[in-house]
Amino acid sequence: MNFAFKSSKESLYRIILLIFLTVSFASYGQKMNDGMGGRFPHPVDLRKAVSSFNCGKVESADTAVVKQYLLSAIANLKGSDFSIDFLEGKQSKTGLHYLYRQNYRGKPVYRGTIKINLDKNGSIISLFDNTYRILETPAGEFPDTDDCYDIIKSIYKNDNDIVKIFIEELYFDLGPRLIPASRIELWDKKGNFFELVIDADQMIVYERDMNSYFNNNRIHDVDTPALARVFNPDPLTTAGVIYGAPYEDASDADISQLNMQRQQVTLDVAFENDTFKLESPYCLITDHSIPDVAPVTSLTPDFEFTRSQDGFEDVNAFYHINVYHDYVQQLGFDNIVNYPIWVDTHAMGGADNSNFSAAGSPPRLSFGEGGVDDAEDADVIIHEYGHAISHSAAPGTNSGAERLALDEAIGDYFAASYSKSINSFNWEKMFSWDGHNEFWNGRVVESDKHYPEDLQNNLYKDAELWSSTMMQIMDDIGRERTDEIMIEALHSFATNISMTDAANLVIAADVALNGGGYVAPIRYWMCLRGFIPCNVGVDELAETHFAVINSYGFTARNEQAVIRFNSPQTGLLELTDATGRIIYSEKFSEADELKISPKNVSSGIYLTKVTTQNFSSTYKLMKW
Ligand SMILES: [Zn+2]
Repeated sequence: MNFAFKSSKESLYRIILLIFLTVSFASYGQKMNDGMGGRFPHPVDLRKAVSSFNCGKVESADTAVVKQYLLSAIANLKGSDFSIDFLEGKQSKTGLHYLYRQNYRGKPVYRGTIKINLDKNGSIISLFDNTYRILETPAGEFPDTDDCYDIIKSIYKNDNDIVKIFIEELYFDLGPRLIPASRIELWDKKGNFFELVIDADQMIVYERDMNSYFNNNRIHDVDTPALARVFNPDPLTTAGVIYGAPYEDASDADISQLNMQRQQVTLDVAFENDTFKLESPYCLITDHSIPDVAPVTSLTPDFEFTRSQDGFEDVNAFYHINVYHDYVQQLGFDNIVNYPIWVDTHAMGGADNSNFSAAGSPPRLSFGEGGVDDAEDADVIIHEYGHAISHSAAPGTNSGAERLALDEAIGDYFAASYSKSINSFNWEKMFSWDGHNEFWNGRVVESDKHYPEDLQNNLYKDAELWSSTMMQIMDDIGRERTDEIMIEALHSFATNISMTDAANLVIAADVALNGGGYVAPIRYWMCLRGFIPCNVGVDELAETHFAVINSYGFTARNEQAVIRFNSPQTGLLELTDATGRIIYSEKFSEADELKISPKNVSSGIYLTKVTTQNFSSTYKLMKW
């Protein structure tokens, strides 16, 4: 292997990589990051999947049969230069979810994936096509393997710092064109896991934090109940106060007011070699990241610690992760994070951030201790666990600007809904204890941002659109129902999907799970947010004399619909049911607008007839 530097370029890589290594490994963290980890400047991240819903049927759900179907159905795959590989298959409560990858002349096309979601009869519920149309072979050479190693050597002086290197040749989308490129995947001993794409001139054309996909089904079958104390969900929420003395971090000190907020709980722990350990079939407290703090163990089934003790964060994370895993399982999902996830609560070199990484087997969570210790706040723990849930339901799909924001949003939603179910004090504050203080601002799950004009191409800021909408739906139809629908929908997520696609997947999941029983409220909130059009369910007539306002609120929310005239009118308003029976009538004179109340109107379709001296028109209104 030639590790000699090409010296003219070395300093350039160093600058690029220094910026990269400093700021970009927080992509799966919960914190705001305005560096590269939080922005999507590259065209490959701004691509949109071509989405189709209810678009046909396959003869069988056999992956080879589906593969043949896709090769014949997708225009970009026509011709002998193209093939596809099966990457992932998942089963949800109502369907099957397959991920394939496009190849051109035997080499993969970077993110040229296809996600197909089938119901159990083989009907295609949704399909997300990210393939590329390639009319001629992309010009240029593939980079030399030696060049790849030069770049690796410029990052890591010592080969021993690297755990894993993976290099593949592929075609990469530069925006205006595809180029032959090499993708380098690196995992190091500090837990960094990232990919670089380089061109034949040794230029780094793309870089990002990475996920990878393994599983490990090591199961501990020994469990013993132990007593422990935790924050549930955090000390400010249970005390009903906001951040400020004496309710402040004070460098993890044993402040009595904070210690008093600890609640006693029972944990199922493992008992091995005369020692109780924080290990369960779905969570393993470890020390996989610096600082070196060994997982707490006990010779008695007693894990009661005060917050200044290292064991407190271990217990807190262990408790909330097990509770949440049990909850997901009780919703009927027995294949979600179905492995003992590694959890280090004294991690990331003391940074004020946390992350989920799928680099290792099994995947792991790392919580930093900067500012308020992250593992003292259930919002942080469940947010990060949310990434693990998403990775488990839809592996290989967390790429693209809105898709990444959706992953942050789903973590925020799971965390906020969990906390709110325990205690609703200041529920809208995301990271109630870890954020909204001197260290950082936290986020909210009660935003009035509207789609798409309030998107900022920042995965954390954009997350608030989706998380806030899910909280509204949850308040409407209940937490368990909303979570069941969200997790079912998550299985169908694909690379480069938009929030509109996600909204349609949530609706499709309700149709599959509940026969569409909750589509009305879901549509209502999704339409108010701007994710989907608001005229769904109501026949919009082309009407020039008046506008109908809030027909959706009438249909789904028991709110008044308003007919607003272009100029004052005198005449008669009649509401008739499907049989022609008049159920309401009103004479009006020089009116600017008419209000139609949903009171005493039962479910059905109604004709609203407006007759004036100038015109006569009908408008169809629906009441769910
Ligand atoms: Zn996150």
